[in-house]
Amino acid sequence: MKTVTLAKKKEKLPLSHHPWIFSGAIAEKGDAAPGEIVRVVTSEGVFIAYGHMGSRAQVALHLLEWNESAVVDASWFAAKIRDAAERRTALYERAGTNAARIVYSEADLLPGLIVDRYDDVLVVNILTPGMDALRPAIIEALTDEFSPKAIYERTDAHAAKAEGMTAKDGLLFGALPAETVITEYGRKFIVDAVGGQKTGFFLDQRENRRIAAAYTQGRTLDCFCYTGGFSMGVATRASSLTAVDSSSAALDMLKKNAALNGIAIPAENIVCANAFEYIRGAKKNSFDTIVLDPPKLAPSRSAVPKALRAYKDVNLSAMKCISPGGILITFSCSGGVSREEFRTVISWAAKDAGREVQFIHALSQAEDHPVRASFPESEYLKGEVCRII
Ligand code: SAH
Repeated sequence: MKTVTLAKKKEKLPLSHHPWIFSGAIAEKGDAAPGEIVRVVTSEGVFIAYGHMGSRAQVALHLLEWNESAVVDASWFAAKIRDAAERRTALYERAGTNAARIVYSEADLLPGLIVDRYDDVLVVNILTPGMDALRPAIIEALTDEFSPKAIYERTDAHAAKAEGMTAKDGLLFGALPAETVITEYGRKFIVDAVGGQKTGFFLDQRENRRIAAAYTQGRTLDCFCYTGGFSMGVATRASSLTAVDSSSAALDMLKKNAALNGIAIPAENIVCANAFEYIRGAKKNSFDTIVLDPPKLAPSRSAVPKALRAYKDVNLSAMKCISPGGILITFSCSGGVSREEFRTVISWAAKDAGREVQFIHALSQAEDHPVRASFPESEYLKGEVCRII
């Protein structure tokens, strides 16, 4: 195994189990090639961890294992996948679900691998050359553990590019069933693992959908509704429900999901539109509850200032059309935007809307998207339930 030596004083973060090493922190890597497993040592030659060589200047190394006596081979990966899968077993019962993110990359000690389970279909994202090289071992571990009907690869193009990889899309194992239906807290959703957004469903919002339903009152707007994740829950408590998204495919699925859950939503309340414009044009006092779950507006740290303005504008529009005492459930899924920044943006919007805002319930990503203490970058989803006075 080849050895990579870090530059002087660059061992502090990796020793505290942060899994990324940037190229500037490397003093000597010899001819270690992308995807290779290497030994990483301090400038004094002291072992730190085993890692996967990356293929890009930015994150040059992904750290995997800090125990020097461990053997990082295919069975090591299989065991790590099994461990991650086992950490989810209690969730299935707690949330009455057959869908979960089984492996969440660095946060599950498997940098570069994401696996989502939708009943007996698994969707994988392979995001580093190291994981790419392990494809057969990953497929074997997943088939052993889950006996799935299908394993489908859908690698997010943006994330793949950041690692110098090309996004791949295709069946890795088995055959896809005609339709995949998942349940979540008693609600059913059809998931299109091939054509849907992300890997087919936004599993990270599971708890927030349940909590949002509990806060819902009166005339309700689900803005950026996708296939109705929030709509299906809030519908039971709302006096009326309007669902808005720019994707007609998502709205077609929302209609199917409504039928599956026995929920009647009038056709004119399912609106295919630019939600930023829709909500800007909504009249004063037209909703009592609004869910705002826009797509990632800041894909990178440099995009944050522009994204903060967009978050402010869309929250301002919501505050302008919500009734006194109304509930705004608002999200940012941009990793680069901190909770503090998000709250600041909401306070700017409150000022401009001339409304008082109370933060009554802080929301985060679901437990199957854990935030690893040594890797704060694994936190990305923040939400606030706000009372708009
Ligand atoms: N709340 C959903 C997930 C929303 S994901 C759930 O729980 O399942 C973000 C959604 O925003 C996607 O459905 C996407 O189609 C939609 N979207 C992106 N840009 C949009 C725009 N400008 N106007 C309306 N919808 C938009």
